[in-house]
Amino acid sequence: ATTIGKVFDLTVGKYPNKEALFDVRKNLRLTYKEWSLEIDKLANALLQEGVRKGDIISTYLFNTEELATAFFACAKIGAIFNPINFRLMSEEVAYILSDANPKIVLFEKMLESGIDPIAKRFPQTAFWYIDEDAPSYAASYKAKVASAPRSKVKASIDENDVYAIMYTSGTTGRPKGVLHRHREIVEQSLIVISATKLDSNDNGLVTAPMFHCAELHCAFLPRVHVGAKNTILHHFEPKQVLQLITEEKITKFFAAPTMWNMLLQENFDEYQLDSLTLGLYGAAPMAPTLVYACKDKLGISLVQAYGMTEMGPAITFLFDDDQIRKAGSAGQACLNHEIRIVRPNEDGPSDPDDTVPAGETGEIIVQGPCMMSGYYHNEEASANSLYMGWYHSGDIGYLDDEGYLFVKDRVDDMIISGGENIYPREVEDVLYTHSGVLDVAVIGQPDDRWGETVTAFIVRKDPDLTEEMLDEVCKNSEELANYKRPRQYIFCDALPRNASGKIQKFMLRKRLEDLFSNG
Ligand code: AMP
Ligand code: MG
Repeated sequence: ATTIGKVFDLTVGKYPNKEALFDVRKNLRLTYKEWSLEIDKLANALLQEGVRKGDIISTYLFNTEELATAFFACAKIGAIFNPINFRLMSEEVAYILSDANPKIVLFEKMLESGIDPIAKRFPQTAFWYIDEDAPSYAASYKAKVASAPRSKVKASIDENDVYAIMYTSGTTGRPKGVLHRHREIVEQSLIVISATKLDSNDNGLVTAPMFHCAELHCAFLPRVHVGAKNTILHHFEPKQVLQLITEEKITKFFAAPTMWNMLLQENFDEYQLDSLTLGLYGAAPMAPTLVYACKDKLGISLVQAYGMTEMGPAITFLFDDDQIRKAGSAGQACLNHEIRIVRPNEDGPSDPDDTVPAGETGEIIVQGPCMMSGYYHNEEASANSLYMGWYHSGDIGYLDDEGYLFVKDRVDDMIISGGENIYPREVEDVLYTHSGVLDVAVIGQPDDRWGETVTAFIVRKDPDLTEEMLDEVCKNSEELANYKRPRQYIFCDALPRNASGKIQKFMLRKRLEDLFSNG
């Protein structure tokens, strides 16, 4: 492996005049050579500000050229890149800033309200504003970059140096800072290049959040690695995605299941989508019905990735040929990865050697070259997660006799009713088959008699959809035992999701609690 800065320089050497990046909002197009100059300018500005190897630089940005440029500028000078989730509110951002203690935070106008109330609490940190008219406590990014010396940055960065801290989406508890080294992410990039058959002719669209490693490491970076183009869309908007596929002749892109779902609601007639060959999906479970709908309506190849920030993130791929034959599976282990299913241990991390036979469920653990070096400032969590050299995912699943992984759920989301385990996903997948359902989430409702019963939150596509109709689908399903049928349906306008598309079930549990405590 090598460093991320080196990856960039090698590409510039090969394709100096090729279009590298198109920032849609700014209508800015850069060749690799031009982008390289921008990256060096920012790197010099950071050095001038006193940033040294090992210092942390945070970004609190939507998808922007500045985020893309900061990613490589940090890599080149050995600063640690810390992309913060743009959905987080000020106190959540404050938590990350106090944990990471960055030297500089880059932020933008649309996210000012996340920084304004907390900036004064971080006198050690400089705030750089990428838009015009910076607030009083912040400096202008443009001015900083303009006043920096013009020279080629030279730094000795090793592949074993830490490249980033990424705070996990935290569907439970406080976010933890995942530390990744250069070589781990360069390896991840190579694995994705081979899985999605990327080359310099590809045109990629960045539309999922770049602060999350699914977009950053499984889409954006691999394209730079091979000299392909990245069109950067500020944030996901279905009509704009279709427009850009048409205009920029996009060939491949990544989207989370919710995004695919939203795209499918659009009318495709006015767009020209022939250039599109491959869609990557993942970061959250996608119901097989949705996968079929994508294949049908878009006629493209699909690849699913399953993984987690701690692993870079991808640890399995389900390739196009298997989308139907292995419906519901997350696929086989990525190159150089080994996956095991082990018996969960109530009292601590599960024993990596206590494996269960094919077909039996247990905790998913994994080993591979992209595994994090640990969590920042959190030795106990690191030791538990990386127990005996295996990453313990906290996901439940099984391997079939061909080595295909089926992810059932999070350990914490499993419902136990009358002593029987119910995985919310299997119920959700059945409910999704009704065409009147737009979105669905299933959780457990505490129950005196059964321990828990199944409750389904439903977002309707068809306003006339009723409880009875959904119950009918469950009763008629060959895949759903009677005790797994929801005993309660709650219709709502939207489900709480984090920015990478995962449903925040703790918020639904809270909603349910509130509903019942208020009578
Ligand atoms: P994160 O740390 O934000 O990357 O989230 C990782 C978690 O997302 C995993 O532990 C899984 O629970 C879930 N996840 C990611 N990809 C998939 C997928 N393809 N299918 C089902 N769950 C997924
Ligand atoms: Mg996680």
